[in-house]
Amino acid sequence: MCGIVAYVGERTAYPILIKGLQRLEYRGYDSAGIALLNKGIHVYKCQGKVKDLEKHTNGNAISGTIGMGHTRWATHGEPSDNNAHPHESENGKFIVVHNGIIENYAHLKKELINRGYNFKSETDTEVLANLIENIYLEKKVDAELAVRLALTKVVGAYGLVISCTDEKDQLIAARKGSPLVIGVGDKEYFLASDATPIVEYTDQVIYMNDEEVAIISREKLDMKSIQNDAKVPKIQKVDLSIEEIDKGDYEHFMLKEIYEQPSSIADTYRGRISLDKSKIFLGGITEALPAIAKANRIIIVACGTSWHAGLVGEYLFEEYARIPVEVEYASEFRYRNPVVSADDVVIAISQSGETADTLAAIKMAKEAGATIIGICNVAGSSIPRETHAGVYTHAGPEIGVASTKAFTSQVTVLTMMALLIGKKRLALDEITYSHMVDELTQIPEKIKEILKSEKHIKEIAETYQKASNVLYLGRGCLFPVALEGALKLKEISYIHAEGYPAAEMKHGPIALIDENMPVFVIATKDKSYEKIVSNIQEVKARNGKVIAIVTKGDTVITNMADHVIEVPDCHEALAPLLTVIPLQIISYHIAVLRGCNVDQPRNLAKSVTVE
Ligand code: GLU
Repeated sequence: MCGIVAYVGERTAYPILIKGLQRLEYRGYDSAGIALLNKGIHVYKCQGKVKDLEKHTNGNAISGTIGMGHTRWATHGEPSDNNAHPHESENGKFIVVHNGIIENYAHLKKELINRGYNFKSETDTEVLANLIENIYLEKKVDAELAVRLALTKVVGAYGLVISCTDEKDQLIAARKGSPLVIGVGDKEYFLASDATPIVEYTDQVIYMNDEEVAIISREKLDMKSIQNDAKVPKIQKVDLSIEEIDKGDYEHFMLKEIYEQPSSIADTYRGRISLDKSKIFLGGITEALPAIAKANRIIIVACGTSWHAGLVGEYLFEEYARIPVEVEYASEFRYRNPVVSADDVVIAISQSGETADTLAAIKMAKEAGATIIGICNVAGSSIPRETHAGVYTHAGPEIGVASTKAFTSQVTVLTMMALLIGKKRLALDEITYSHMVDELTQIPEKIKEILKSEKHIKEIAETYQKASNVLYLGRGCLFPVALEGALKLKEISYIHAEGYPAAEMKHGPIALIDENMPVFVIATKDKSYEKIVSNIQEVKARNGKVIAIVTKGDTVITNMADHVIEVPDCHEALAPLLTVIPLQIISYHIAVLRGCNVDQPRNLAKSVTVE
């Protein structure tokens, strides 16, 4: 959350910063700001989006070849002009942009007020700006040392870019918990929360590590720890292209990403399934395979949509690898006193690889001696660096705040892992194994089929766009799909929605059903088909409106439901990959019909780097 971008070099910084902020807007969009530094100091900031910031700068030809920018997702202090970043210290010596939370800000603020400091904003970030300045002025040290000393007093998470107005030719960056990437050009450097604002200019990047500080000028980059130990920056080639981060001809990133799923799923398994389909090879976990195969238990930790993928994983690992699985919300797991031992394997799932709660859960489980496996999309992010082994989903950048292709790629990875481990443990026979691998490789074509029914799905969206409550029901591995369908609807169209295991309906939610209640039932042909048919009858008997996702050619449910959306037949364990697609499309269209901002839903942001 919050996007940071900065530039030091010989080009005009303003367009680089604005374009960079637009690329990072998925991380937060309640206010935006920039500071341009070397020709005097110009700070422009306002509540609203990057386009509002552009208006606010009022076409002023803003020169300057050093600068920083920020797009905010408020944690401390409401979205407002004053709370927008960059924040200036009281005597104007320091300018700061920040992603994260300074947890002990209240205590630090009190101390600074006692020393005569006044505050213009309610943010934790301004406290940091004043703390650095106070140390700089009182101790008469240079800016870099003032920053490092201040950071020793700070509890919390930060990605920071700081400028001292007495040392305007350089920027200081620091990271703990929130991501920062440095792009290395020729006599120029770029800084950003992820590589998307950088790839246009250079493919050489450095992913900063926790507790590292970088001092950057046109001529050089110096890297050290907060304690002043020298660090050798590791320059890597970033694997990201401009086309991947553009919307192309699509109206929204979300729709583009829904339509990318046939190729993103294929990218997830490409090179990992042998040509004759007899073998699965997951290079990133080869060394950890013996530990996973003899695990007592698998604990999956994740948040949001990734948690739903984890629930599908639970079904797959228990069914095909016969290993008991627990799926935990990372935020709950980390604050309990969970029983974790060296015989456990913890699988952490996160699209961004930066989810703060998931990172903290990993650190805890690591201390308890468990083997930690990551499933992430963003290469070089924090979780892959904190885990013992892992598998990248290779879904390509996901910009829409509502996750779509990341979910299906995570489920694809979990399917491959469950099959691989099931085979290694001899829990899975060759025939089922080969059949499922073969079926997995047919999923992209089957999704293309479903995408052809977008028009029909849009018509259903038109019928239910005014609903104020919606239920989603599913059984087995389709229950997590019901949860995911409900989450998609909630987050982008602000309609209250709940997902339930279909049989649980009788234990409470059935009381909600009347002629105004749309109920989505995921009812493809599997071993609980007859049961879900009964559940549909129960809804119909109370005049509820049933929209059923069914296997192509189904006549039984088609005769009962108000609407059906067909998906091609597939192995029942792979049905989540197909059935989630119409639910994503319906949420998309309902949100568009209700005039909601699909890619930037209110109150949300992608990449939740704060607790
Ligand atoms: N805590 C800072 C603020 O509220 C930064 C927020 C964030 O990184 O999400 O302005």
